[in-house]
Amino acid sequence: MADQVIDLRSDTVTRPTAAMRRAMAEAEVGDDVLGDDPTVNRLESRVAEIMGKEAAVFVPSGTMANQAAIRAQTEPGDEVIAHSDSHIINYETGAPAALSGVMVRTASGPCGLFDADQVESLHRPLSDHFPRSALVVVENTQNRGGGAIWPIVQVERVSRAARGLGLRLHLDGARLWNACAATGLAPKDYAQHFDTVSCCFSKGLGAPAGSCVSGNAATMARVHRFRKMLGGAMRQAGVLAAACLHALDHHRERLRDDHANAARLAAGLGAIPGVSIPMPVPTNMVFFEVERRLGTAAEVCERLRARGVLALPTGPQRVRAVCHLDVSAAMIERAIGLVGEVLAGRHAMAG
Ligand SMILES: *Cc1c(COP(=O)(O)O)cnc(C)c1O
Repeated sequence: MADQVIDLRSDTVTRPTAAMRRAMAEAEVGDDVLGDDPTVNRLESRVAEIMGKEAAVFVPSGTMANQAAIRAQTEPGDEVIAHSDSHIINYETGAPAALSGVMVRTASGPCGLFDADQVESLHRPLSDHFPRSALVVVENTQNRGGGAIWPIVQVERVSRAARGLGLRLHLDGARLWNACAATGLAPKDYAQHFDTVSCCFSKGLGAPAGSCVSGNAATMARVHRFRKMLGGAMRQAGVLAAACLHALDHHRERLRDDHANAARLAAGLGAIPGVSIPMPVPTNMVFFEVERRLGTAAEVCERLRARGVLALPTGPQRVRAVCHLDVSAAMIERAIGLVGEVLAGRHAMAG
């Protein structure tokens, strides 16, 4: 298996395991648009329970989960407060503007986190002249922030400030599972501070597709309606929901292995001359920077691809490598060695 590709581009590249495929093959299904799919219903109840919410809605993607939650809790002309590095701003094709007609006012702070003072200063008082502040979005773990985990006390402060100002809160919990695996906190410990919570099964949990939004019954009724409007109402979706249930049962604990692999990868890469690690590595994501003399991030990724290691350039000199279900500790050791060889070769050639 020495020539096996090591795919570190994202934790979305995982393929369903044999046991997960069996669960999918054996899933009881029905027409979920008619409310008849028992496996989808089971997943939605399970997620609602895990999050400590009244209800949950199964949707095809994390983007739809976030956008249906935003659409359900705002009206056109409203304003959403979110960090400038958030997924809803950077990787969802301008959807808050296109689908909900809302403006986004950006918070700032290291690793994609912000605090209550920013909610207070970015919130606008009610006035016929101003957008209406409606919703605060928190992302945990924070993707562009290196998989950063929000300290629970900071979540509490932000939530208290937002609720005090009459704002609602949405948690983009695509990788909330990673935050929980790392801290030992339960999803509901975080979720209690939010009106709506999205979570993904297609990242580290290893399902082929699927996300859920959870919240109170009235808000989930709106999410359900907007899911249909956005084209996300599926029929025998129990085939997918079965994979998600399997992931909840079998792949949450093992996220700690991904975190250990990421820490090892960061340590190994950081020891290579010309490589630096710009952010802490608390979960499964490693960002590393290469010195200009070694080439651009895109060039380094191209050279790594030729050696069987896939990673994503996310800045002129910055590369992202993500650990997941299909990456073993041995593959991490091999990847560290290959990055070292590729960069040493380049350095020698450049003289
Ligand atoms: C991946 C991700 C999403 C959802 O992405 P989809 O590709 O639409 O499933 C949302 N938020 C964060 C932070 C993510 O990393």
